[in-house]
Amino acid sequence: MAPPAPRAAGARAGARGVKPPLTLDTEVTYLKGGGPAVAAKLAALGIARVRDLLFHLPARYEDRRRIVALNELKPGMESLVRGRVAGADVRFAGRRSLRVVIDDGGSSLLLRFFHFNDAQRQGFADGRWVRAFGTVRAGANGLEMVHPEYRVADDPELLPPEPRLTPVYPLVAGVAQPRLRAMIQQALEAAARDPDFNHELPGLGGPDTLTSLRVLHEPGGTDLGDLLLQRHPAQLRLLREELLAHQLCMRLLRRQTLARPGVRIEHVQPASARLQEELPFALTGAQRRVIGEIAHDMAAGRPMLRLLQGDVGCGKTVVAAIAMLGCAEAGLQGVLMAPTELLAEQHAHNLAVLLGAVGVETGILTGRLRKADRADALARAASGEILCWVGTHALFQSDVHFARLGLVVVDEQHRFGVAQRLALRDKGPRGITPHQLIMSATPIPRTLAQTLYADLDVSVIDELPPGRTPVHTAALSNERRAEVLARIGEACRAGRQAYWVCTLIEESEALQAQTAEETYRQLREELPELRVGLVHGRLKPAEKDAQMRAFANGSTHLLVATTVIEVGVDVPNASIMIIDNAERLGLSQLHQLRGRVGRGAAASQCLLLYQPPLSDGARARLEVMRTTHDGFRIAQHDLELRGPGELLGRRQTGLIGLKIADPVRDAAHIPALQKLADHWLASAPQDAKRLIARWVGEAERYAQV
Ligand code: ADP
Ligand code: MG
Repeated sequence: MAPPAPRAAGARAGARGVKPPLTLDTEVTYLKGGGPAVAAKLAALGIARVRDLLFHLPARYEDRRRIVALNELKPGMESLVRGRVAGADVRFAGRRSLRVVIDDGGSSLLLRFFHFNDAQRQGFADGRWVRAFGTVRAGANGLEMVHPEYRVADDPELLPPEPRLTPVYPLVAGVAQPRLRAMIQQALEAAARDPDFNHELPGLGGPDTLTSLRVLHEPGGTDLGDLLLQRHPAQLRLLREELLAHQLCMRLLRRQTLARPGVRIEHVQPASARLQEELPFALTGAQRRVIGEIAHDMAAGRPMLRLLQGDVGCGKTVVAAIAMLGCAEAGLQGVLMAPTELLAEQHAHNLAVLLGAVGVETGILTGRLRKADRADALARAASGEILCWVGTHALFQSDVHFARLGLVVVDEQHRFGVAQRLALRDKGPRGITPHQLIMSATPIPRTLAQTLYADLDVSVIDELPPGRTPVHTAALSNERRAEVLARIGEACRAGRQAYWVCTLIEESEALQAQTAEETYRQLREELPELRVGLVHGRLKPAEKDAQMRAFANGSTHLLVATTVIEVGVDVPNASIMIIDNAERLGLSQLHQLRGRVGRGAAASQCLLLYQPPLSDGARARLEVMRTTHDGFRIAQHDLELRGPGELLGRRQTGLIGLKIADPVRDAAHIPALQKLADHWLASAPQDAKRLIARWVGEAERYAQV
């Protein structure tokens, strides 16, 4: 077992000067340059412990190994320069700026700063030396660097070039490169002291783990070419190690789960027959087939571990409802877990109607319940009075107990991680492991599924309900916005409803919200006869609810939204989807968004508004959307259009905890690594544990077989 990380007691000892030795499991707050404020910021990068820093790899490298003479500089060069201060002054023309001229005897260069303090300004005293690194630009009066990274000293000897390439790390606001570099150095030292980390592992090839990490964090000049092409032996070694660790975890997890006793539930087929009498439609053949697979699993006496895949709109919810009803009829509880409050509420509403018709009550547990309601819900979950539950992450909290949990359904799996699935699995009564049904609308090719869902059996719904007409999709330059507005106005007057989705590349919720609010104001002016609604992640929960409800019951015509509506939202009367700046989104996301319309019988349209000129890649994506409706084919195009090294989506890879490997780019390694994983588990379980500990750091969790 890994030693427990020092917590508050360690901090007090540190304050007295007796620092606990750093280990890979120490929290980053205890590092030199750490502290609670820095630690809180690093958490946004997924960095909590020293171990995480090791695997926080550079996004690129800068070459600061040579000082470039000022007279060799050309616009566009990213260079290290050195010279004496030949004058510094503050200008107020336009924006206040600090202008420093440096001179190296051959030529001079202007350094410009817009953000600076007095101490910085005074540091540039005439005659002192400056070393600066930045991009050279052609300014109004010759070459210049704006906001270079710099250091000042009285003696040029104190400002030498760097011996190695300089790593540039993905950053978070408030933690600058130099601090991060210094912390990563400490992490490398801690790794060097850790015997388990240095234990050689057979069969992996290439340089060992620590050597490989050192190459990536502090490469020599000869490494650069291979690193950039992602084919350096150090990179290959690390990604193979990581994928192997992942395969081992998933195998252990599966083995461990299947070894537990499961509850035998034989009520799923009868529940299906019963619910079908209440449904306004007949189940598709594909739905009936997967219900059969689920019924079989749940009656088998061991826990079900099943992934249910199916394109948006194929009708996964009703399949889940049938499994939940089967569970309830066996007298056991089932929970359906959704990634957002919005979706949880919608599911709760639908299940209440559907299962209510056959006399089964549905409860809801989300983070936004009032205190008294929450207490009431907890009591009814713990007593077993309510058998069917819907919720969000709030279901994981430690005060949530279920009397007889028999089934866990996770909707839109890509927003949940393995750790969360484990937490739910352990919520069952002692000695019983609930059945697990994981539903995903992200169609992924088989090689990829082997990485993402290595521990699950797979069912696929490969058929849409009949009567759906494909969503007519067009790409329009936003110069034709007036035409689009006219179309929306006309359709809404005819009783239809539309979504207007605002997109941003930045993941910042604040910016997304701001963009949506501006669009909302503008559309209200442009379409004064329509009732316009607005949802985004920054709205208060009650407000979000009210907006969604108003749209769902038809009292607003047009809903302006951020991509929060990407998952799950189901308003069948909405038949127009406008995606603003569609060129910014990837294919999968566009497909998910488009899936919000075309759910009713009315012919639907999706208008992809773009800002010209289009890049080749964006043009190709919009063309795929225009001509293809099948999610699996779109996913395949998606993989082809993305360059190697571009991630499938940070969300997905982040959740399965991959730090280095890219499940798409590196899929070719998987078959061999699966064999190696089986071999290790059979003949070298200690090595398996070591590797998991090295990469995941909680080997105990996977190894308590
Ligand atoms: P998803 O698989 O994307 O979660 P949903 O479960 O939200 O899809 O279903 C999409 C819509 O299709 C819902 O309005 C649902 O009631 C409807 N639906 C589901 N199954 C059928 C069916 N067999 N025939 C007709 N409509 C169906
Ligand atoms: Mg759904």
